[in-house]
Amino acid sequence: SDTSVNKHLLADENNMPTNASELVQRCRNAYESGKTKSVAFREKQLKQLLKMYKENELEFIAALASDLRKSKNEAFLSEMNILVSDVVNTLHYLKKWTSPEKVEKGLANLLDDVLIYKDPYGVVLVVGAWNYPAQLCLLPVSGAIAAGNCVVIKPSEVSVATAKLIGELIPKYLDQECYCVYQGGVTETTELLKQRFDYIFYTGSTAVGKIVRSAANEHLTPVTLELGGKSPVFIDKTANLEITVKRVLWGKFLNAGQTCIAPDYVLCSQEVQTQFVEKAKEIMSQWYGSDPKNAPDYCRIVSEKHLQRLKSLLNSGKVAIGGNDDPSEKYLAPTILIDVSPNDPIMREEIFGPILPIVTVQKSFDAIGFINSRPKPLSLYVFSSDKKVQELFLTQTHSGAVCINDTLMHYTIDTLPFGGVGASGIGCYHGKYTFDTFSYRKSVLVKNFNPLGEMIGSARYPPLTDKKTSL
Ligand code: NAD
Repeated sequence: SDTSVNKHLLADENNMPTNASELVQRCRNAYESGKTKSVAFREKQLKQLLKMYKENELEFIAALASDLRKSKNEAFLSEMNILVSDVVNTLHYLKKWTSPEKVEKGLANLLDDVLIYKDPYGVVLVVGAWNYPAQLCLLPVSGAIAAGNCVVIKPSEVSVATAKLIGELIPKYLDQECYCVYQGGVTETTELLKQRFDYIFYTGSTAVGKIVRSAANEHLTPVTLELGGKSPVFIDKTANLEITVKRVLWGKFLNAGQTCIAPDYVLCSQEVQTQFVEKAKEIMSQWYGSDPKNAPDYCRIVSEKHLQRLKSLLNSGKVAIGGNDDPSEKYLAPTILIDVSPNDPIMREEIFGPILPIVTVQKSFDAIGFINSRPKPLSLYVFSSDKKVQELFLTQTHSGAVCINDTLMHYTIDTLPFGGVGASGIGCYHGKYTFDTFSYRKSVLVKNFNPLGEMIGSARYPPLTDKKTSL
């Protein structure tokens, strides 16, 4: 395949082993040399990563345009700016995060040091998805470097141009022994997953997440799984309709719906459905003009296969807006389907494209029941001015995150952990959580030989008495 050819070309160019086991062994040797233990070394690598983003902005923009026809501004907004601020933030806190943490202690340990050391895991694998091919593949890498790991990066083979660019740039900027890129598709990833890693960070579908977790079990390797699912939106009549429609459509049509936390479907009353569609027509024509195909800020579907899959979902409900496509451009119009039934095909899988189905429900309780009868979503969106309704969703449903009266924006707050629960994932990252993900928190107790401490602790020695063991 083309990707295999690319893999060999890139690997030979940089004098890297093309074989998964040799590549991982090379990283392991580098890890065991102790190079990455030095915080100064990590800092230097992070600065190089930042330099890589800054010096190759145009190259990244071009690769993202080639893979998904992302516009320059959308590429900055949803990929490059996020990567840059993350490295800047990581560099800022590096010393603090890597320092041992003192924890609270009781009287018995008054004279001791009670600490948490942040150990790197060792050699970690980061597997990326194609929808935000730069961001999702590289965002975990800064935390992995900061925590002192060696990293094998496996970009998605579907986003060919970005994968190629990452493969070319990483060896140019980062230490080649500690950080490397392994290219390829299912065959190559399967080979990679047979190797022993100390941590695996995977972003992609729930189905493949299960494969990754079983492979990790073989070596008892801990995993973070950033998966997908259907993220619901509930709208009630107390929501400001104009703002609601804008925020829902923006979250849905960004990257042509190929966003893991994109609002997947809407639950609302018949009345709200009618008003939503009316407003949506107005707003979509303001944003995209009369033909969204010509709008500069509207992406394309990543592949012919995905376009076909999405088209097969258009039979559910009735098309209220859009529905047309152009296979020659991998274009699918931003589409809204109304009166969709909960059992329609579009409600049985994650849509991952620019189609928004609306399912009508009577009340917020019905929406909650609907959501709770399905796998736990990655994100849940609630549009309501009623505090009681907000609280009801917050306390009576389970999801990776809840965002009230907006979509996607919780993702941009790096003091919030980002991740799923149940079928939508295991573990989390962003900001310090990325560093924590890639650090093993080692408990440390340091005692001394102070006679007072010995006296306090001597109650444990035999012969034991009731007096010695009573609290
Ligand atoms: P995918 O699971 O098909 O592919 C992701 C990665 O897994 C790729 O690198 C691919 O090479 C590898 N892979 C694919 N099949 C494999 C197999 N059989 N064995 C081993 N490795 C394999 O996912 P995708 O199509 O790239 O992404 C879409 C999914 O990812 C959606 O479900 C979406 O919601 C989810 N996603 C989640 C997040 C998140 O942060 N939670 C972000 C983006 C995408």
